[in-house]
Amino acid sequence: MAAASDHYDVIVIGSGPGGASLAQRLGGTGKRILMLERGDYLPRSRRNQDSKTVFVDAAYQAKDTWYGSDGGTFRPGLHYFVGGNSKVYGAALFRLRERDFGELRHKDGVSPAWPLGYDVFEPYYTQAEALYHVHGQRGEDPTEPWSSAPYAYPPVKHEPRIQELNDILEREALHPFHLPLGIKLIQNPDGSATTYSPCIRCDTFDGFPCPFNAKADAQVICVDPARAAYPNFTLLTNAYVTRLETDAADGSVSRVHVIRDNQFEQYSADIVVASCGALSSALLLRSLSDAHPKGLANGSDQVGRNYMRHNMSIVMALLKEPNHTVFQKTLAVSDFYFGASDWKYPLGLIQMCATSHGEQIRSEAVPGYLSWLPEMPFEKMAEHSIDFWLQSEDLPRPENRIRYDGDRVVLDIREGNEEAARRLRAKLEGLLEPMGAWPHLIERRLYLGKDIPIGGTAHQAGTCRFGTDPATSVLDLDCKAHELDNLYVADASFFPSIGAVNPTLTIIANALRVADRIKERLGA
Ligand SMILES: Cc1cc2nc3c(=O)[nH]c(=O)nc-3n(C[C@H](O)[C@H](O)[C@H](O)COP(=O)(O)OP(=O)(O)OC[C@H]3O[C@@H](n4cnc5c(N)ncnc54)[C@H](O)[C@@H]3O)c2cc1C
Ligand code: SF4
Repeated sequence: MAAASDHYDVIVIGSGPGGASLAQRLGGTGKRILMLERGDYLPRSRRNQDSKTVFVDAAYQAKDTWYGSDGGTFRPGLHYFVGGNSKVYGAALFRLRERDFGELRHKDGVSPAWPLGYDVFEPYYTQAEALYHVHGQRGEDPTEPWSSAPYAYPPVKHEPRIQELNDILEREALHPFHLPLGIKLIQNPDGSATTYSPCIRCDTFDGFPCPFNAKADAQVICVDPARAAYPNFTLLTNAYVTRLETDAADGSVSRVHVIRDNQFEQYSADIVVASCGALSSALLLRSLSDAHPKGLANGSDQVGRNYMRHNMSIVMALLKEPNHTVFQKTLAVSDFYFGASDWKYPLGLIQMCATSHGEQIRSEAVPGYLSWLPEMPFEKMAEHSIDFWLQSEDLPRPENRIRYDGDRVVLDIREGNEEAARRLRAKLEGLLEPMGAWPHLIERRLYLGKDIPIGGTAHQAGTCRFGTDPATSVLDLDCKAHELDNLYVADASFFPSIGAVNPTLTIIANALRVADRIKERLGA
């Protein structure tokens, strides 16, 4: 156990994909690394696969109460565990499209260009895919960016009903492709799990924590291997960082204040990396002091602003024939990503999602649905369901912001770019008949947390964007705070725009890139 006054080379705050990937890479340098994680290990149990526990009771979701601009309360869809939100994520690990790094016009505004291009991130995407066991197939996805290497793992095979869906979509002149998935799955020729495959290809991928440690999450892929391999790497759990103290003389973070197991502790390091998730990192940077009355790194008043989270919805269609698919999340469609024949602006991405369980449907059902649904018990509906995740880009707006109001955490959100989301949904609705489904989509609100839309924080990004101008950005191009010499941020805070693909592979790739910059700085 570390002594409360220990000094480290690097402190990493947060053990999600950002912090864990960075720390794992730094572990090999021999430098003393301390990881501080507010949560504990997520308990492994059969409850991990119980739909009522995970979705209806939301047993693993943070118990925090946050506020909206209107004073209403909600529970953010966050998960405080070793591995962060990746303990429950769906592990769809996409690269942003090359055009996402440039300026893109939407009906409601502009998705701004990144200050670094795709070419800078490409080598790190390749490394991130290999590290997180991403299974996929190059050449199928019509919008995928160029890559310097094939996927290290073969695509996760479709089950028969999904292969049928693939063929139907192809007949509709679309280009469905194998969803890139981070999973420790070894497949037989028919796609089933081999005798020694860690993943057994069950029906609780996506939203559930894996009790077999077979999902490529940050704990399994980075934290545990780093603990095992590097004696210079220390993890402290239940260690909540309350404040970063700065040294007025040289403008660096001098102390990290922690409450661990109800005790106050302080640590210091040459370099401090905040990787608490985009929302919590912005909150941590609001560490006020005489030298920083607006909080740290906040001379530009940009900390917490430009919060983005995707316009997303999880929808269920009901097939007329039963759907016996167990592992459903293997297919995606990006044909509408940059537009459609009837719409010149980007629409977004359609991907499969975990199979619906009867318990979930029972909890989500509202009388409105029941007016047109065929007469079916909920378990029967689950058996006929086919489920999709729709995702459109959310544009950065300065007024969309996480902030403190006294002790309260307030999340200001003004909806935007909604027409893209509506039109994307209409595209899917137009495919229901060829799919052999009833002509309506049912919202599955529970998946993303009970307080949708405001609590739908799964794809949090953009609260401390990076850039070259300290007047308009918080971080420099290495993701170091413009205003502090030793503070880096390694989660999705740095995103200037979010695109319409899932964010985590970009978080990981960037964390590896930032780790390389830190290694250079340490001479390691
Ligand atoms: C249900 C669900 C499904 C998802 N599916 C996908 C998907 O399929 N594909 C995809 O790309 N993304 C998906 N995501 C999003 C993905 O989980 C996140 O993008 C990713 O986990 C972000 O990584 P991070 O390291 O930036 O932050 P996090 O994963 O949020 O990790 C931050 C860590 O910091 C800790 N922390 C926070 N504050 C403090 C503090 N003050 N002191 C100490 N520790 C602190 C937290 O406990 C947490 O462990 C999903 C998310 C959810 C919730
Ligand atoms: S599908 Fe595989 S990774 Fe997902 S919960 Fe089941 S065993 Fe774990």
